[in-house]
Amino acid sequence: MKAAILRAARTPMSIETVQLDGPRPEEVRIRVAASGLCHSDYHVMSGDMGSAFPIVLGHEASGVVEAVGSDVRGLARGDRVVTCTSIYCGHCGDCQAGHNHLCGEKPLREHPQANSPIRQNGEPIQQFCNLGAFAEEMVVHHSAVSKLPEGMPLDIASLLGCAVLTGIGSVTEGAQVRPGSKVVVIGCGGVGLNVVQGARLAGAAQIIAVDLNPAKLAMASIFGATGTVTGGEGVVERIMELTDGGADYVFEVVGIPAVQRQGFLMLRRRGTLVLVGLPRMGSDVSVPALTMIAREMRVIGSVMGSVPFQRVIPTYAKLYLEGRLTLDPLVSQRIALEEINRGYEQLIAGETARSVIVFDH
Ligand SMILES: [Zn+2]
Ligand SMILES: [Zn+2]
Repeated sequence: MKAAILRAARTPMSIETVQLDGPRPEEVRIRVAASGLCHSDYHVMSGDMGSAFPIVLGHEASGVVEAVGSDVRGLARGDRVVTCTSIYCGHCGDCQAGHNHLCGEKPLREHPQANSPIRQNGEPIQQFCNLGAFAEEMVVHHSAVSKLPEGMPLDIASLLGCAVLTGIGSVTEGAQVRPGSKVVVIGCGGVGLNVVQGARLAGAAQIIAVDLNPAKLAMASIFGATGTVTGGEGVVERIMELTDGGADYVFEVVGIPAVQRQGFLMLRRRGTLVLVGLPRMGSDVSVPALTMIAREMRVIGSVMGSVPFQRVIPTYAKLYLEGRLTLDPLVSQRIALEEINRGYEQLIAGETARSVIVFDH
């Protein structure tokens, strides 16, 4: 099969032929239908996130089950599915508490680096996030898979497992935004637009989108923003004015320390700053401590929507099919695997919300 392989940071990916081993008893083999280009993969490409090489990136995928291992229950050949990075064991303390996405005993293959299911002439090729979705097929642990309801288009569905889940979940589960709240969302890419949409679903009274790019602000309005503000100098003052004294929740979906601090300064008393955007490794967040205490502020993080993804993916798909979830405008363009490097250039330049690789099997 064909896969996009990254051999070192800051080099382009190359499309090469590789072999796939499995499924083993707990695994599922999936023919990939669509795979979204997410910013998290870019952290490996840029060198901001350390990784073993060579590697197949990609983690936001949909597809059709080709084969299931002997221990897999509830999935069968022909099922239409979405994958997620949150593979989990189901019996550790975090899983038992309902936080599968934080599982501390992920059921990886033994010596996963040497035993990756992706091989090239016997040589292991790493599988990003235990998925490796920039490829025609994947072999993944069954806990990384969620079944889709009938009628859900696979190209749109690919975004459910990362951008949509991370964005909406951070609002409804991570921060548990209450109806009537004032919400600010800084950074309106694929995830940020879904934070905006999550705030709308949660019944926020005011949703202000902040970004440097006017095209993204226009998109934010489609996803439910009640107002938009251009980021940069004066943004804190402008938000304080528009919210009449500060927001209840500010979501930082960029991952830059100076922007995180700006987000904190936009809060009202007892407000919550929610960190969603992934910063560089080793980056710190700095906020004025006295203000934090005196005004009882909170700073929290949210990863993968803070929710067991198998519980919410079918719900999101149904909301989409009922016309209550906006997903179509997220897909800026459908591209071939061979166009992946150009797709990332466009993502980094801020020209696209999401490019989705569509496989032509
Ligand atoms: Zn992602
Ligand atoms: Zn666990």
